[in-house]
Amino acid sequence: MVTMRIILLDQLSFDLPIVQEAKSEDFFLFVEDYVELTRVPHHKKKLVFQLSAMRHFAQTLRADSHEVEYIQHNNEFNIRSLPEAITLMCTKYDLSRCLVTEPSEYHVEQAINTACLNNKLSCEFCPDTRFFADRDVLKESAALNKRTMMEFFYRKMRKKTGLLMDGDQPISGQWNYDKDNRKPLPKSIVVPERLCFTLDSITQSLQSEVQHCFPSHIGEVQNFNYAVTHAQAHTAWQQFLHCYLPQFGPYQDAMRMEEPFLFHAVVSMYVNIGLLCPKKLCADVAQAYTQGKVALASAEGFIRQILGWREFIRAIYWAYMPEYKTRNFCNANTPLPQWYWTGKTKMRCLSEAIQSTIDHAYSHHIHRLMITGNFALLAGLQPEEVCSWYWAVYADAYEWVELPNTLGMALHGDGGVVGTKPYIASGAYVNRMSDYCKGCHYDVKQKTGENACPFNYLYWDFLARHQEIFSKNQRMSLAYKNLARLEPQVLAKMRQQATDFLQKGCDG
Ligand code: SF4
Repeated sequence: MVTMRIILLDQLSFDLPIVQEAKSEDFFLFVEDYVELTRVPHHKKKLVFQLSAMRHFAQTLRADSHEVEYIQHNNEFNIRSLPEAITLMCTKYDLSRCLVTEPSEYHVEQAINTACLNNKLSCEFCPDTRFFADRDVLKESAALNKRTMMEFFYRKMRKKTGLLMDGDQPISGQWNYDKDNRKPLPKSIVVPERLCFTLDSITQSLQSEVQHCFPSHIGEVQNFNYAVTHAQAHTAWQQFLHCYLPQFGPYQDAMRMEEPFLFHAVVSMYVNIGLLCPKKLCADVAQAYTQGKVALASAEGFIRQILGWREFIRAIYWAYMPEYKTRNFCNANTPLPQWYWTGKTKMRCLSEAIQSTIDHAYSHHIHRLMITGNFALLAGLQPEEVCSWYWAVYADAYEWVELPNTLGMALHGDGGVVGTKPYIASGAYVNRMSDYCKGCHYDVKQKTGENACPFNYLYWDFLARHQEIFSKNQRMSLAYKNLARLEPQVLAKMRQQATDFLQKGCDG
């Protein structure tokens, strides 16, 4: 009797107990699950990245003398999903049990449980030790309808790990340097070039394969430049530590034309798939601070993203699924405009954010939150369509991380579980934080009229439309005071223009 150890697509880590504790008689099962690969039209570069990383990982395990069953998406047995592969393995082997690291996604766990039950196979879930917090850490408070704010969750995690701590107090007395992380980018600042990876035969053949098998998916396979092995991801991480981290803190919210990466780490895809360990990244950044290589605001800003935000988002997902996915607090029903898939819009900020997404399967968090997300919230785009878009287009996106970030943070569609208020901004914010407005078809200074920036009239229309639910929110009081100061005729004109814009498919 043998044990089958299933390695899921986003569990490519040698440090996981499921790998560390493998015995010589066990085997690993890898499945390129076609149903999952097409659940949403994942970006072609994302598919090349994920499948190449998975094939490289399996190859290394084989080289380490482990037995590996690897089922490709275009396999000869016509196996289309992990449950079908589990059934096939039950016919091929005399299995005693199956082990899986706890899946990051709800529907994957459900599918594995059902498949094992159907095959009368005992299934055990191993802990995912890459995370700092237990997956179900917020489940009880969610069941009791108690809300947890990210800031307090983050402070608990700092105390638990001792990262940037002096006893039970934060180093230098301050928990959060978010206010120091919002500087616009000076014109004179030069961003260092990213390193280039040489593509090996596995990645090259996947470029052709993905192009051939997933032709209608967004993006292109050419100009692929992401790490697909642990060693390559480590090199990318070292480059960030030395070349980008010192400037990451102050300019993490800045945007600039044709600079999709700026000083961001661009490692979220490596962390989420298992090529880099989040615990090691936090330790490295804390060490860079103690060695005087980086200011506290940059170190804290980075660690907050991983130890605070990423862990919080995962805990929210597991506390509120599956009901969470159906929420639509703002009653948003506008269809997703087709230009979200093409970038062809006259709004320069959106065309730039979407085009860089199409080019790289990546954009940084302010593009996601304050450009595409802000627009989706202001325009009342349907949450389900918006969430599918985010899940499809970003190389780091899996449902557990995408859903609370999009539905909760960007769209406020969860009614305030993730964010304490809707994150909305008019064109003035985009103008302050980027150089997009200068070359735009629209005039960021105008609130109404043919050339008015759509973010302006949509912003005021959003506040007026949702006055009943948001005017009581303390954190929205200034916005509502400003709304009350508007001339009624001006507001009426903006609201009419917003209605016309939305009716014309969001491209006025
Ligand atoms: Fe975006 Fe408005 Fe600026 Fe154009 S003017 S780039 S639409 S914020």
